[in-house]
Amino acid sequence: MKSTLKRTWAEIDLDALDYNYQTIRSHIGPNTKFLGVVKADAYGHGSVQIASRLQDLGADYLAVSSIDEAMELRFNGITMPILILGHTPKEQVDRLICFNITQAVTCKAKADEYNQEALKYGGTLKVHIKVDTGMSRLGYLCNDEHFDTGVEGIVEACQWPGLQAEGIFTHFAMADEDNPVGREYTHAQFALFQKVIQAVESKWGQRFAIHHCANTGATVDYPETYLDMVRPGLLLYGYGAYAKKWHLKPLMTMKTTVSTIKVYDPGTHVSYGGIYTTDKKTRMGVIPYGYADGFLRSLSNRCQLMSEDGPVQQRGRICMDMAMIDLTDKWHVDVGSEIEIFGPHQSLDDWAALAGTIPYEIVCAISKRVPRYYYQQGKIISKELLLRM
Ligand SMILES: *Cc1c(COP(=O)(O)O)cnc(C)c1O
Repeated sequence: MKSTLKRTWAEIDLDALDYNYQTIRSHIGPNTKFLGVVKADAYGHGSVQIASRLQDLGADYLAVSSIDEAMELRFNGITMPILILGHTPKEQVDRLICFNITQAVTCKAKADEYNQEALKYGGTLKVHIKVDTGMSRLGYLCNDEHFDTGVEGIVEACQWPGLQAEGIFTHFAMADEDNPVGREYTHAQFALFQKVIQAVESKWGQRFAIHHCANTGATVDYPETYLDMVRPGLLLYGYGAYAKKWHLKPLMTMKTTVSTIKVYDPGTHVSYGGIYTTDKKTRMGVIPYGYADGFLRSLSNRCQLMSEDGPVQQRGRICMDMAMIDLTDKWHVDVGSEIEIFGPHQSLDDWAALAGTIPYEIVCAISKRVPRYYYQQGKIISKELLLRM
């Protein structure tokens, strides 16, 4: 669907994606596979566009969080391997097999269910075994007294005829905590992961084709954890401290426009609750960018956006569909002028820090009514709007 509106939009630079991908590739070397994490609509960038580009670039694997996300890719021309990191109900095993989607197996009970369903369907389900080495979320518990039962459970799953155990993986809880506690925790997780792999493979008598664990933090700071494949998400999109370390480029620029300008007398209350009152004659602009577009309301009255005339203060409460900006003395800014929310002049990382959150949350919060414009070599090559029209 194409948007005809020039309201609020996200520009996504596919050349930056190419650059980031190639740069990460140059760091990981030719013998390490690359899995691109494209869950949550590719962190708000549009999973079909990002996945298509990664497929063309020669990435080895993609990961999403649910079967719906995987099917969206399959229905849109993505033929490369896709791993579902989260849970899939057993009733959908036939679809996983039919569409050649790889499923994470996170415990004995699920391995059993998936195996039975696969046999019922008459196929084999490709799986990656997830080991919980300290994230305490999904995965076979293998620490301390759980080691033997964990290893046994995994070996059992590998031997079941309905499952094809292609990979084994774990997830780091603190690889992006750049401090001694984080480093020690990450090393311990990695040591346990290797111990589990060794025990499983020697009992099973086979080697998993793909061992993987490195998320963004580990890809940059822990090259010893690459094993067969790295699995970064945020790094690829070019945000955060790790992307900065490797001089990667942010993909997204968010922009809005000035829809109305009015001049208020001193003492005028602006927006809900009147938390801002003008202290002088004030030229105030309205932008069609509110919390329903992903503008975090917690930023109300304490953030700035970038106009062609420099930074402008946001004033008063951020509303669902609109917010007000102070354009006093910004005489070049008129109705229709473009305003940068984040991008080259104001980084998403700073924006996230100001909001007391992480860049992940900001890009994931950009809603479906914000169209995404895809750029290649400075030209728009595609526009996407996720509304049902
Ligand atoms: C989201 C996710 C990733 C990617 O994390 P980043 O911090 O964005 O690199 C990797 N592995 C798993 C299991 C995930 O859920």
